[in-house]
Amino acid sequence: MNRETIKEIMQSEGILPQSKFGQNFLCDETIISDIVSLCELEGETSVLEIGPGLGSITYPISDKTSHLTCVEIDRGLAGYLKENITNAEIVNCDFLKYDCTDKPEVVVSNIPYYVMTDIMKKLFGEYSRARKMVFMVEDEAIARIDCGPNTKQYGPLAILCSLYGKYTYEFKVPHTAFVPQPRTTSAVISFSRTESADILSADFVKFLNACFSMRRKMLKKNLASFASSDSVNEAFGKVGISENARAEELRPDEFAKLYVQLCNN
Ligand code: SAM
Repeated sequence: MNRETIKEIMQSEGILPQSKFGQNFLCDETIISDIVSLCELEGETSVLEIGPGLGSITYPISDKTSHLTCVEIDRGLAGYLKENITNAEIVNCDFLKYDCTDKPEVVVSNIPYYVMTDIMKKLFGEYSRARKMVFMVEDEAIARIDCGPNTKQYGPLAILCSLYGKYTYEFKVPHTAFVPQPRTTSAVISFSRTESADILSADFVKFLNACFSMRRKMLKKNLASFASSDSVNEAFGKVGISENARAEELRPDEFAKLYVQLCNN
């Protein structure tokens, strides 16, 4: 889908991009095709797309599989897609409230930037059986995704990304690739699932949020809502964590081990 097509659809359907929903539609056909290739679709792969918009990524994916579900918050855009894409299920709702028992093999999204962290946390918590996730994000948000312990940006999101699997920064995307053009540069990133993703669940995400609820406090204080202080001390001992440790000092694998000790026993 190119710039002219997107403008024509917006005009004929009376669609005005809504900045409150982060609507910047991708109009660079090379980038669209590269994103679809990164999804590594083989046969009838089941795919979940969050925020299909006017269908820039949706159309080429629906040509490759009929197991495509798209979740779009905007009623007008969802209605337009329902009428025009016959080979996909279009669900009109806020993805953060979406609940589906069918879990996809591949997740793809040009993520609405205003809600990136919450969408990614939900994906890693509830859709971590997927073998591949491909995202467009704001380039400056990469610092929160690809960072390690003892950095300012380190938190639940970076830990979930690290445990889910192999992360690749694929390529930068200039603001000229969108209608309307955002102020910032974007980037396409991908994740391939590895075994360390087995620990991920919605409860694990809650556990991480609790660990980081007060960053400057000692981790054991933040865990008071999760377990008794005796259990926390015992688990710290087994995992080899200092009793004065703060959450930002622990590696992702240490969080996984601590969760197993505290919550899976
Ligand atoms: N995928 C399209 C593309 O690449 O051109 C549109 C991407 S646009 C950056 C983000 C899309 O996500 C918009 O269509 C917006 O309406 C939708 N969206 C925003 N918040 C959402 C939410 N909470 N749940 C589902 N869709 C959402």
